[in-house]
Amino acid sequence: MGLEELERWDKEFFWHPFTQMKVYREEENLIFERGEGIYLYDIKGRKFIDAISSLWCNTLGHNHPRLNRALKEQLSKVAHTTTLGSSNVPAILLAKELVEVSPKCLTKVFYSEDGAESVEVALKLAYHYFKNLGERRRLFVSLENAYHGDTIGAVSVGGIELFHSTYKDLLFETYKLPSPYVFCKEKYGKLCSECKEELLEKLREFLKRRGEEVVAVILESGIQAAAGMLPFPKGFLRGVREITKEFGVLLILDEVATGFGRTGTLFYCEQEGVCPDLMCLGKGITGGYLPLAVTLTTEEIFKVFLGEFGEAKHFYHGHTYTGNNLSCAVALEHLKVLREEKILERLKPKIKLLEEELKGFYELKNVKDVRQLGFMVGIELSREDGRPFEYRQRVGFKVAYKCRERGVFLRPLGDVMVLMPPLVIDEESLIYVLNTLRWAIKEVLQR
Ligand SMILES: *Cc1c(COP(=O)(O)O)cnc(C)c1O
Repeated sequence: MGLEELERWDKEFFWHPFTQMKVYREEENLIFERGEGIYLYDIKGRKFIDAISSLWCNTLGHNHPRLNRALKEQLSKVAHTTTLGSSNVPAILLAKELVEVSPKCLTKVFYSEDGAESVEVALKLAYHYFKNLGERRRLFVSLENAYHGDTIGAVSVGGIELFHSTYKDLLFETYKLPSPYVFCKEKYGKLCSECKEELLEKLREFLKRRGEEVVAVILESGIQAAAGMLPFPKGFLRGVREITKEFGVLLILDEVATGFGRTGTLFYCEQEGVCPDLMCLGKGITGGYLPLAVTLTTEEIFKVFLGEFGEAKHFYHGHTYTGNNLSCAVALEHLKVLREEKILERLKPKIKLLEEELKGFYELKNVKDVRQLGFMVGIELSREDGRPFEYRQRVGFKVAYKCRERGVFLRPLGDVMVLMPPLVIDEESLIYVLNTLRWAIKEVLQR
């Protein structure tokens, strides 16, 4: 099997996700073969810093000795056993551990495989909760520019035109509040507390009118990631929590992207002292090793599903691989490493460094905005007069491809350059990534 054959077969047989295959097949693409720490190596032996944590999931680097060992140990026992009505050791231990490390009001763990499914579970649980209480409610409140995954329920509460408008005939009804960052920038020129108050007032007004039809408010936690790294005004989350409580509506927090240290704390909601009714976790949960997600919920919601068998109050949801033994074993070890190696404490100075270094990007004529929440960064490119580039110009991709020439692997969101390196990246490599990106922006746009 030669390299050219692999490249040919990749283009012939493999339909890639979120990818225009016509364009993909015309280009040279990276085919990764192995990883080591923050580096990925392709089949041609080229080395790249994984500056997007393999799409936002890797935390401790690749090929991590402790995660490898945990996986091998579990593999030598059993790879998978069903959790529909029976159980397995790592899934039990992980559930207990997740309850211990998450906000206090969350006491139960429902497993799934991907972020999108953890959102489906949250939506269905919330809807079913009111059903079991004998109430008929069917409306969800979400945000413009939201991204909660690509399955139909998650798309219904999503708000990214480009991804979601195609399917609109298939979606259930939602009420959408403005995207906080976009709204605040347009109206106030910045994120500020007046803007936060105005947004919260809109929510309050809506719930006053139609609160009794509303199942839940669903939000990403602290930042709209897939929309291009759009942070919320500080205190917005807390405000939403208070209002949802006041109106007896559930709050679903999607921490799929922000969970497991990305914002500097294990979960972003800790920073605002918020405990949601349902919390979705995915991406970093296994350190980026295996597909696993969870929906955490409260005792109150759990209890409403209890009844005699014949009452059929229970939650009819679960997949073949729900609570997979290998995934849970790795996730358990991941939490242990985070704690024992003080990964989040060691992240703090790197977040500061990143903040300092990002200031340099404003010197570039084509940088319109720089946004950061912890270790999540979006650098928005535009024409020199601030107008956006045309979608078909693929400026973001061109800059990302340029970075590859100097060994940095990125995937942009449109013309927003995303940086989200593994939490363990060293300061020198972090600066190298930033310098490479700065160089690439100049190379592509200023020659
Ligand atoms: C990525 C993401 C999802 C979807 O997770 P998948 O594992 O890709 O299904 C959901 N919500 C948020 C906030 C995400 O960033």
